[in-house]
Amino acid sequence: MLEVENVSTMYGRIQVLWDVSLAVREGETVALVGANGAGKTTLLETVSGMLKPASGRIAFRGKRIDGLPSHAIVELGISHIPEGRRLFPEMSVRENLEMGAYLARVWKDKQEILDRVFQLFPILHARQGQLARTLSGGEQQMVAMGRGLMSRPSLLVIDEPSSGLAPLVVDEMFRIIETLRGEGIAILLIEQNVQQTLEIATRAYVLENGRITLEGASRDLLHEDLIKKAYLGL
Ligand code: ATP
Repeated sequence: MLEVENVSTMYGRIQVLWDVSLAVREGETVALVGANGAGKTTLLETVSGMLKPASGRIAFRGKRIDGLPSHAIVELGISHIPEGRRLFPEMSVRENLEMGAYLARVWKDKQEILDRVFQLFPILHARQGQLARTLSGGEQQMVAMGRGLMSRPSLLVIDEPSSGLAPLVVDEMFRIIETLRGEGIAILLIEQNVQQTLEIATRAYVLENGRITLEGASRDLLHEDLIKKAYLGL
């Protein structure tokens, strides 16, 4: 579904990603694991068109997407849920959600999709008129996820959804991600909770200093020494 081949990304003259290759198959949940500053966010932003790779190739369902503007990539079915939620704080929950549906492909179905988002997140239905800035961190993350779903994506790229949330809310976030997977949506996920992430992901990649150093089935990686020592504290 998604093929990233030998991608290098620079910030000006500083190279952050080096020859990164990665794939996500239809319906698969793939985790991207790595220390702070390894380049995980940079990789997701390169996939969703916020950054343009200096070299390499990215294809989605066989069509080359590197170099396309972000809105064209969303139209094709990739939705990016950014780190830190990036909501519109002075707009209501419902208005924030509707911002995700400004696409020719989905605008006419926006009520139907909104109903589905409210089914997934009943608390957002109850709070639809409330300003986004007045929500708890967990609720704000739900709005960010819901907004990402409003474009009816087939691939969701999610950057640290549990960042700053209390443990019980983190568990809820993982349950939501599993529900989305159950709907057939492919997911590329960055998460600091490596154990929980590897338990729900099909496959995972480890990114270190901008390079992929390990990849494999998640259940195998849970037993790798590198993962145990560096990320699970074992
Ligand atoms: P974290 O878990 O802390 O978010 P990350 O793995 O997502 O880390 P990135 O945010 O992709 O890492 O950053 C990778 C490297 O690129 C870091 O060294 C960072 O300082 C640098 N970097 C990120 N954004 C910029 C920018 N806009 N300009 C210059 N350097 C940047």
